[in-house]
Amino acid sequence: MKDQNCIFCKIANGEIPSNTVYEDENFRVILDLSPASKGHALILPKEHAENLFTLPEETAQGAILVAKKVGAAMMEALSCTGLNLVQNNGASAGQTVMHFHLHLIPRYDGDGAMVQWEPHSSDPAEQEQIAEKIREALA
Ligand code: AMP
Ligand code: ZN
Repeated sequence: MKDQNCIFCKIANGEIPSNTVYEDENFRVILDLSPASKGHALILPKEHAENLFTLPEETAQGAILVAKKVGAAMMEALSCTGLNLVQNNGASAGQTVMHFHLHLIPRYDGDGAMVQWEPHSSDPAEQEQIAEKIREALA
């Protein structure tokens, strides 16, 4: 289902023009309007889902297959030397458009694109507690 107020629904379904690099029955891949690096693209499902957790399983699987196919083409076409997949869920994770999307960010040596985090030290006891909480939620 489409959400009438969602800009990515409109782009994915061709109601708003975009720089499309790939399209199939379920997805459209477009260039990001404000790219982190040259060629930064977004994989948009045509069906509306706010985030990974409300996305149907087969769409989640399909998104990774599109990333593999289009990412390989980008590596060849753009001569990038790496590529990040980024997918934000929730405002605190940096999600600004509330329609699931998977970023394909081509990387070039020394490009300075800000997709890396600063590592922190970890406490073994706390790590064990965290792991236990997650295991419990999965049980
Ligand atoms: P996120 O922060 O993960 O929600 O990413 C949203 C992305 O969508 C950002 O990288 C924006 O630059 C990009 N974006 C927002 N509006 C448009 C648009 N109309 N066309 C293409 N990209 C867009
Ligand atoms: Zn939408």
